[in-house]
Amino acid sequence: MVELVILVRLVELVTLVILVLLVKLVLGCVMRKQIIDRIEIMQGDITQLSIDAIVNAANSSLLGGGGVDGAIHNTAGSGLLEACRTIGGCPTGEARLTKGYNLPSRFVIHTVGPVYNTDNKGNCRLLLTSCYQNSLSLAVENKISSIAFPAISCGVYGYPVEEACSIAVKTACGVLANQNSIKRLIFILFSSENFQIYVDYLKGIKTK
Ligand code: ADP
Repeated sequence: MVELVILVRLVELVTLVILVLLVKLVLGCVMRKQIIDRIEIMQGDITQLSIDAIVNAANSSLLGGGGVDGAIHNTAGSGLLEACRTIGGCPTGEARLTKGYNLPSRFVIHTVGPVYNTDNKGNCRLLLTSCYQNSLSLAVENKISSIAFPAISCGVYGYPVEEACSIAVKTACGVLANQNSIKRLIFILFSSENFQIYVDYLKGIKTK
């Protein structure tokens, strides 16, 4: 008789554990979908986006340069350069906010990615993660609900795109999981090769 009671209790306990695990699994899937649904991958020119903020892969002087930085300054006009001068630079991994001036986007978030160094991959990863985290923190503080990122550090700074893509997407998902104010997060890639790498990566996460 005692054995039977113990057995029944055991079955109840196992059923409860299975139920809790199932609920956790379903909730996890729903949450993951809610995060991934807010992420878009696009191919094109970031300077043409009419959204709240675009992110600039700047250099630490914030005084303009080549690549995406040059394109953003060219379109934004001299107002942006003047604003950047008053900021007085930005260390690698941090981010600063300006208005968008002649750009269709309201704001520009300037962040400085690491120059890729094969002898110090760990530090590069930390700094690139910080770029995404700090840019998104600025977005949240300034009630920015749509934001677009280029492939920070993947041009002249030489970061391998596959690695940079996984850092970018994982960091973005981490922030979006705890933050509902950002409704639309775009990764915009200039080249079709980089676009495909991001598309494949996101597809991989979706099917996991
Ligand atoms: P970094 O110095 O951080 O490497 P780059 O500007 O050299 O920055 O390159 C970063 C990425 O931005 C590269 O993948 C490059 O192809 C891309 N890029 C360049 N111009 C644009 C643009 N107008 N819109 C979107 N991405 C761009």
